[in-house]
Amino acid sequence: MRRFNNPDPSVDTDRSTDDVRCPYCEGTNTSREHPKGPSLCRSMHFCYDCKEPFEALR
Ligand SMILES: [Zn+2]
Repeated sequence: MRRFNNPDPSVDTDRSTDDVRCPYCEGTNTSREHPKGPSLCRSMHFCYDCKEPFEALR
């Protein structure tokens, strides 16, 4: 699940793969909804604080 463009799973120091910042509240209590969004460079996320889905550019 968390191997996103990362061929080596042992390199996991970049937590931003999982903790995407919410554009509304800038919180990191978010979850990735789908591996791929409408385009390849976007992904859908969901903020548990706002209870709103949002797109994140990757
Ligand atoms: Zn939020």
